[in-house]
Amino acid sequence: MSCNYADGLSPYENKGKLGLPEIFDSAEDIEKKCVKLADLLRNSEHTVVHTGAGISTSCGIPDFRGPNGVWTLEERGEKPKICISWNDAKPTKTHMALLALQKAGYVSYIVTQNIDGLHLRSGIPRKYISELHGNMFTSKCDSCQRQFVMSEAVKTVGLKSIGMNCPGLKKKGRRCRGKLFDTILDWEDSLPEDDLDLAHMHSCVATLSICLGTTLQIVPSGNLPVHTKKRGGSLVICNLQPTKQDRHADVMIHTYVDDVIKRVLEILEVPLPDYDSTIDPVVITSLRIADGIKNSEGEEEFTPIDWTINAEWVQDKELFKKFKMKKVLKKKKLPYTVNDTSPKKFKHENSDGEKFSPGVTLDTSSGNKNEVEWPFVVCEFKNESKT
Ligand SMILES: [Zn+2]
Repeated sequence: MSCNYADGLSPYENKGKLGLPEIFDSAEDIEKKCVKLADLLRNSEHTVVHTGAGISTSCGIPDFRGPNGVWTLEERGEKPKICISWNDAKPTKTHMALLALQKAGYVSYIVTQNIDGLHLRSGIPRKYISELHGNMFTSKCDSCQRQFVMSEAVKTVGLKSIGMNCPGLKKKGRRCRGKLFDTILDWEDSLPEDDLDLAHMHSCVATLSICLGTTLQIVPSGNLPVHTKKRGGSLVICNLQPTKQDRHADVMIHTYVDDVIKRVLEILEVPLPDYDSTIDPVVITSLRIADGIKNSEGEEEFTPIDWTINAEWVQDKELFKKFKMKKVLKKKKLPYTVNDTSPKKFKHENSDGEKFSPGVTLDTSSGNKNEVEWPFVVCEFKNESKT
């Protein structure tokens, strides 16, 4: 059962804000925001989508911090009532839509915190995804360091041995013989380096970051979308609950992600594909094993599907050049404090060109009014391509 994953992790106290009330926008607002999001997607040169547990709840996998989330219920001594097994869960409309958007050229990269493997199962190529917290359907060899797609969900978490030998071949065609380990991080494990490097570079290069179904409370994953904003890009957040980065968002959409993404695809006239088991690497692997023969040691002989990040992708010169050129924009110092609410003659503009007065859009919920940031006030932008 997918909920057992949580039981396998070490005890950990600081699980962030749990069970915050969900917010639902009006139908009229949702439509306007979907049109805006489609417009941003059309005009963005490099879009990165950041996904969390909220995109998998519609297939029966509970989230962590929602009103019925794993950690929210744990605090009350309860367990989620609905909980599908990892093997039975299938990609949702959102997973399939992201595959379609990547193929259509609207999405350049996906960064996920999810370990359910549903992006992989949707058919997204490895080149376009960073899995920051691991994947239940992959394993990693301790000898050749390659990752492979499994025929079913692994039964361990926390980077432990799964009791299988590496199915990969060495250059001379001999079996590698290394041991396979799961890729699921426990609390305080380091993130996989290549996944994190690519996620970081793409987030900095992005002209648009879209966050779907995450409260962005886990670091460093939750801070990546802000890299886009700090470098002059746009940020859209779609989540039912408030998130840690709401103050940075240009557009916040509060409703079910499946509904938003389905509508955005309609506006962009991109067909929404159904889940297709014939391109699901997990299903393909299980069929290969079923068709295969056993070697003298009783191990299945089959051609494994490699799920390793290629060194060339991390060292992509074009991406690295863009990454180096994208500098953090300097923030304008405010000529007043936010405690000063007296009428001002001057106005500020947000990224939509809408004018607003000081004090109107400030989020002072942190209690420390001097720490309020001004994500929309951008100045001293230099065209780095000329330098
Ligand atoms: Zn190996």
